Amino acid sequence: MSFKPALVIVDLQEDFCPPNGSLAVQGGRDIVSSINHLLNLPFAVKVATKDFHPQDHISFASNHPPPNNKPFESTFTIKNPLNPEETQTTRLWPDHCVQSTPGSELIPELNRSKVDHIVEKGQDNRVEMYSAFADPFINPTVSRSKLADILKDAKVSDVYVVGLATDYCVKFTALDSAKEGFKTYVVGDATRPVDPTSLHDVYKEFASADVDVISMDSEEIKKMKEYT
Ligand SMILES: [Zn+2]
Repeated sequence: MSFKPALVIVDLQEDFCPPNGSLAVQGGRDIVSSINHLLNLPFAVKVATKDFHPQDHISFASNHPPPNNKPFESTFTIKNPLNPEETQTTRLWPDHCVQSTPGSELIPELNRSKVDHIVEKGQDNRVEMYSAFADPFINPTVSRSKLADILKDAKVSDVYVVGLATDYCVKFTALDSAKEGFKTYVVGDATRPVDPTSLHDVYKEFASADVDVISMDSEEIKKMKEYT
């Protein structure tokens, strides 16, 4: 298959960025200049994803009764709504990226004019959805975005993932990208984590899934300039 790279910008939204985001990731805004640089390179497809929740989303601590309703601290075991035997324990968060609120907007510094597709995720109130491809359930999967179809229709071979946050939505998007059969890269310095101490383990998971972590000044990015 011929080399056809895609750029996937994960959740570069107001609620994930200082100074006003409800779930602000430290340094979240600082990666936008790197990402705008990548948007100027000749990727065959450029996608920006948006976490896009209804107010009653299961991942919001505020939707759970006390005492299990402390954002960042409490966890909750979600049952697959289509198969209660399958469960997934997840962290609960402050309300974030609620549909049609300012917090759900992509940050205005992002060069939107270079983005080909916006993919929304997390609209199903019953399941968490870190990956921009699908929720974590497999038996069966409950909701999928259109991301896989966009990449497959464009005959993409390689996927470069950037954005927020390294240890959650970037991680699961990159792992699902590899599962979908794309050669997958995470541009590490164009991401930021919720929890910096988790990075060592996250990078180990990338390595075992054959996801390569590269940097903005790596050969893989430099060679993109020559690709047309
Ligand atoms: Zn979310």
